Amino acid sequence: MDLIQRIFEAGVIGAGGAGFPTHIKLNSEAEILIVNGAECEPLLETDKFLMRAHSRKIVRAMEEVGNHIKAKKLIIGLKRKYKEEIKELKKAIEDLDSRVELFLLDNFYPAGDEQILVYEVTKRSIPAGGIPLDVGVVVSNAGTMMNIYEAINDKSVTYKYVSIIGEVKKPSIIKVPIGISIDKCIEGAGGAKIEDYSVILGGPMMGKIINRCEVKNEVITKTLGGIILVPQNHYIVKRKEAPIKHIVNRAKSACIQCSMCTDLCPRYLIGHRLRPHRIMRAVSFSEINQEVLKEALICCECGICELYACPMGLSPRTINVYLKNEFRKNKVRYKKQDIKTTAKEIREYRKIPVSRLISRIDLTEYIGEKINGPYDIEALEVKIPLNQHIGKPASPVIKVGDRVSRGQIIGKVDMGDFGANIHSSINGIVYEVGENIVIKSEENEVIL
Ligand code: SF4
Ligand code: SF4
Repeated sequence: MDLIQRIFEAGVIGAGGAGFPTHIKLNSEAEILIVNGAECEPLLETDKFLMRAHSRKIVRAMEEVGNHIKAKKLIIGLKRKYKEEIKELKKAIEDLDSRVELFLLDNFYPAGDEQILVYEVTKRSIPAGGIPLDVGVVVSNAGTMMNIYEAINDKSVTYKYVSIIGEVKKPSIIKVPIGISIDKCIEGAGGAKIEDYSVILGGPMMGKIINRCEVKNEVITKTLGGIILVPQNHYIVKRKEAPIKHIVNRAKSACIQCSMCTDLCPRYLIGHRLRPHRIMRAVSFSEINQEVLKEALICCECGICELYACPMGLSPRTINVYLKNEFRKNKVRYKKQDIKTTAKEIREYRKIPVSRLISRIDLTEYIGEKINGPYDIEALEVKIPLNQHIGKPASPVIKVGDRVSRGQIIGKVDMGDFGANIHSSINGIVYEVGENIVIKSEENEVIL
């Protein structure tokens, strides 16, 4: 079986982002392979852990992928401040006599945004609406490389390393089966320290907020690497929970068109025609300009405009997300820019230092906490979504009552499909088949 077939069989998707099927991404040739080890979302520790503890696996997988895509250069982009990780990776590169190189980044946000990382490493701006391959690059993250290593060794994607931090008794890295509930993960980190908490799934800038009642229903997927507990009345929760109508009304009454949101927008700064202040003007003053509104489609949702830049506390990012959904519903797409994209000269001076960002979003108290683990957390029950990736959901190939084992395929797509296979993450009996497959361990009582 060749590399792409193995990756396809194992159900590998991008472990850190939208969940792009990896067998499709790697079915190409590129001059440079970049592994994203920037982990720029404040507080998260997962990729750093992987680069320390599994450096050899990452380097080996990079060699395999690099040979497959015929890359001339294999580069891991990570921050200069990750001293331990740099040491471990250098050791692995030397021991394995590998051609992998390290590229050291400053500590700014969003250094890990795919397009920003490509610019930092290569000084090539990906055209707006384009992909790294447009400038001869393939980007994958450290977690994806780990999963590729496992796939090469015939292991499918059944578990995930997750950082669980914030208001938990034991901030930790945990290794959990895909489909385990968030409340079991919180238990695994010693439980919550406070009664009234909300949970950020992912990083504080781009993650999704859920409340306490939802932690039993939400589960770990192949793309979710962070759980952060914060007080229910935390600044980030309040900002992210505001309804869109309220956000638009506030924009109408308070946007002073200062353009700070645009001046600090990282995508604007690498040369994209994305001007959140113009979008805000169009929305606020009903200046119906489709071309300006369509700029929202190239927003990466990094959150700088709303959580850092805007002096009036407005939410251009949320408005962009709303517009993107509306455009998608109407099947409107962004036409890739074909003119040469050039970064703004001022860009270097407008990078957002992570320490300043952390203090702006009120997370300083969680910095420097001891991270425990890694701990293995087992589950007696998992709820595995058939759609953890972008593209077509997998089709179930099991039925209620079937006995399944860890690693067994339970949801399938065809090799030509834009999608990914799904596997059972525990041994057990299938209890429910729908959008999610519920599997209970035989140690758990199963009533069919
Ligand atoms: S930074 Fe805020 S006030 Fe200024 S233009 Fe952007 S949305 Fe309006
Ligand atoms: S979220 Fe705001 S700052 Fe980030 S890319 Fe979108 S418009 Fe730019």
